[in-house]
Amino acid sequence: MIAGRFAPSPTGPLHMGSLVTALASYCSVKQAGGQWLVRIDDLDPPRQDPNAENAIIRSLAAHGLNSDRPIIFQSDHAVAYESALQKLTPHLFYCKCSRRELRAHDRYPGTCRAAKTPTPDRAVRVLMLDAEHDYTDGFLGQVAADFATQLGDFIVKRRDGLIAYNLATAVDDGDTISEVLRGQDLLPVTAPQRYLMQLLGLNVPNYTHIPCLEFNDGTKLSKQSHAPPLDDACALTNLRAALGYLGFRAPDPINSISSLLNWSIQHFDLTQIPDKLPKYRPC
Ligand code: GLU
Repeated sequence: MIAGRFAPSPTGPLHMGSLVTALASYCSVKQAGGQWLVRIDDLDPPRQDPNAENAIIRSLAAHGLNSDRPIIFQSDHAVAYESALQKLTPHLFYCKCSRRELRAHDRYPGTCRAAKTPTPDRAVRVLMLDAEHDYTDGFLGQVAADFATQLGDFIVKRRDGLIAYNLATAVDDGDTISEVLRGQDLLPVTAPQRYLMQLLGLNVPNYTHIPCLEFNDGTKLSKQSHAPPLDDACALTNLRAALGYLGFRAPDPINSISSLLNWSIQHFDLTQIPDKLPKYRPC
């Protein structure tokens, strides 16, 4: 069963950059006859905006991007994440290093590797042995993911008790999702996520990382860079613009969201997406 997903964190409303990625993921999975799922990555309450979740769901619906199954909330999966942590026990250690102590290092220096006894108030890290974990990306081709040199032993449960994004995503994508299409900003987390799925014995999806939409100065559109929220009242125009960034131009007479999405599904072609998207221009 082919299944893809769009997995926003509820840190702010959707912007054009999110729409571009959501639309590409939707089209590629629908073209392959698969199911497209929406998952809200709501595991980091301190970073979340209480209004964002509803705004995101409303915005996706306004743009005709409806999940084929009930929307998934990571906050409902605490039991699955804890059981994954149990399974990972032989690979875990309990780290007391502060951010300040680690600041001087490019990657985690392995300081607490010997601390194998569960200890409260410590971050839980996965032991990462030096290895090459290359994979073939649907957009980028061969990716040399030497994550040990990039990242080192990474955190799966934070000192404050919150499950880390990489673990939650590995548990939720493994076995369930066959196609992950997302922005290239997430390329660095792909190797850790794939590695966790392998340790957990889960099927690893295919990955496709498309370029991110950027402002003129090269900054990625994001909440931090103050990307303007999508105006849901202009959904058709927004979808046309998103298609344009991806390198497609739908014929002008198409004037309903459902026919535009159908056209997009039929014509979607990864090879047509430019290596660098045109810079963002507010509608
Ligand atoms: N929730 C993550 C974000 O919004 C993305 C998750 C993913 O696609 O893996 O950046």
